[in-house]
Amino acid sequence: MTTLTYTLDVLDRAPALRGDAEAVRALLTSGSARIVPLWNERHLVDGTPRAQILSFPAAQQFDLTALVFLGLASDVPWFALRLPGSETPPDLGVPGEFKVLNDVVALLPGDEAAILAYARAMLLWQRNHLHCGRCGAPNALTEAGHSTTCTVCGHRTFPRTDPVVITLITHEDKCLLGRQAIWPPGMYSCIAGFVEPGEAIETAVRREAQEETGIDVGEVRYMASQPWPFPASIMLGFRAAALTTAISCNDQELEDCRWFTKSEIRTFGERNDPGTGFKLPNRYAIARLLIEGWLAE
Ligand SMILES: [Zn+2]
Repeated sequence: MTTLTYTLDVLDRAPALRGDAEAVRALLTSGSARIVPLWNERHLVDGTPRAQILSFPAAQQFDLTALVFLGLASDVPWFALRLPGSETPPDLGVPGEFKVLNDVVALLPGDEAAILAYARAMLLWQRNHLHCGRCGAPNALTEAGHSTTCTVCGHRTFPRTDPVVITLITHEDKCLLGRQAIWPPGMYSCIAGFVEPGEAIETAVRREAQEETGIDVGEVRYMASQPWPFPASIMLGFRAAALTTAISCNDQELEDCRWFTKSEIRTFGERNDPGTGFKLPNRYAIARLLIEGWLAE
C-alpha cells in the first residue's frame, strides 16, 4: 500500500525527556536544534517550495516558553514555535513565504511533511488552550509544550486528537461517493464524520453512512489512518459493504451522493482541474487511497 502523506514515522518523540527542562534546554542550545515556525496557521516554505526550518539563534527573539519539543531525528532535536499573530509575517531572516500546509504538501519530502503536520497539530492545540477549561484562568505550558497546567486551579490539559471515520461504501461493482457544497465543483469523495463520545468506531461508520446517505452498511473493515491537523483530526479509513442502495441525504451535510462504477470513476479528473466534470479528492488524502485501492482490485 502507498505510504500516506503525514504518516511517516521520522521522529523519536522521546516522551521521557519532556519533563526534564534542563535536558530539553540543552538540546535547544546544542547548535543542531531545528525549529518549525507557524504563523497564522502557516508554515514557512521557500520558492521551490520546500519547508524552510528556522534555527535556534534566530528564534531567540521569540518567547521560548511557548516552544514544543517534537522529538529527535537521529541526533537532531526538533522543536515547534508559534509566532505572534501579527498582520504581516515576522522577518525571520530566512527567505520564504508562509503557506498553508495542504497547499504545498505535494511538493514537500514526506519526512518533512510529517514533521510539519505534527508541529501544526501541537501549535493549534496550544493556541486553543490558552485558558483553563475548568476555571478560565490562564494556562501555563508544561512538559516541553505537551501539556498545559492552569496557573490557578492546577487543572491539566493534554493535546487532543479528534477521530474521524472516512468510509468507502461499496455494493457489487459500484461505490458510493458524495460531495459537500463547499468543495470544488464536481469533486466527490468518501463518506466521513466525527466519532461521537460513547460510540464505538464501527458504530460511527454505520451511523454516519445512515445519516449522510440513508444507506445501511454491514461488514466494516479498517484500512488505514492519517493524521489530519486541520485542525486536530485523525482520519480512520474503512471499507464497508452496503446492505441497501436507496440514497437519501438525511442530514443535508452532502449536497449530492451517488453510486459510481469503476469505469465511471476512471474518467474522473483531479480536484483542481478546471472544467465541470467529475473530480477525485487530492492525491495525498486518505479518501483517494481508499478509492484507488478499490479500483485496483
Ligand atoms: Zn483552572
